[in-house]
Amino acid sequence: MFATTPLSTSHEKENCNLSRGCCDDAGLLQTAADAAAGLCSRYTCAGMTDHSYGLAVAGGMSMAQAAEQHAAIDALNKQYRGRFRMFKGIEANIRGDGTIDMERDELRQFEFVVASPHSLLRKSDDQTARMVAAVSQPGVTILGHPTGRKYNGRPGVSANWPRVFAAAAARQVAIEIDGSFDRQDIPYALAAIALEKGCLFALDSDAHANGELPFADNAVAHAKLAGIPPARIINYWPERKLMQWMRERADS
Ligand SMILES: [Zn+2]
Repeated sequence: MFATTPLSTSHEKENCNLSRGCCDDAGLLQTAADAAAGLCSRYTCAGMTDHSYGLAVAGGMSMAQAAEQHAAIDALNKQYRGRFRMFKGIEANIRGDGTIDMERDELRQFEFVVASPHSLLRKSDDQTARMVAAVSQPGVTILGHPTGRKYNGRPGVSANWPRVFAAAAARQVAIEIDGSFDRQDIPYALAAIALEKGCLFALDSDAHANGELPFADNAVAHAKLAGIPPARIINYWPERKLMQWMRERADS
C-alpha cells in the first residue's frame, strides 16, 4: 500500500512509493532497495529507471543489461515480498522530433516508461509539438523532468505548457515533479496549471545515489504548494491501481 493520507513528509516516510530513481549498476540494486525500504517504516515501492541505450552520454543501458537488471529485480522482490516492491522502469529519451529513442517492443519489456528531454534545453524556440508528440506516444507512462531546466545552468524547454499538459491528461500520462534540488521540475506554479488541465502526477527523487532518495521531499513540497490532492498523485495509489494504470499506458 502507498499512503492515502494528506501529503506530509511524516506520512510520506511511514508508507510511501518513491516513484523512480536510477542505478547505474545492477549490483547496486540491493543497497538501493535497502535504502528505499529503510526510509519507510511500512510497505513501500520504488521504480528503477536507468537511461535508455540511446543516451550514450549518460551511459545508457543496453537491452541485454536491462534483462540482467530485471532478473536481479525479480530476485529482490522475492526477498522483500510483503515489505518492499521494485518496479522495472526505463528513462527513455525524447528526440528533437518528439519520438522516443526506443522501439515499441522494447518499451513493452518494462513495467513503466519515463520519457524525458535531454537535448535542446537551451533553445528559446517553441517546442510544444515535440512535447505533445512525446506524451502522445503509445507506451509512455510518465513525462520526466518536463522542462529539463537546471538552476544556474539552463532554462530548459520552451513550450505552450497548458497544451502539453492537456495532451498528457488525455492519455493519463503522469507529469513528473522531479525533486532533485537543482531541477525541481516541474515547479509548483507549472504544476498548478497541469492540475487544472486534469493531469496525474508522479513525485520522485531522481536519486542517482542512495543519499539522494530524500530529494523526494522537494517534490512533495512542490505538490503541496500547487495544491495537488493525493488522489491525483500515483505515489499515493494502492499497488493494484498503480499496476493497472501502468499496464494500460503500456497498451495504449
Ligand atoms: Zn533525465
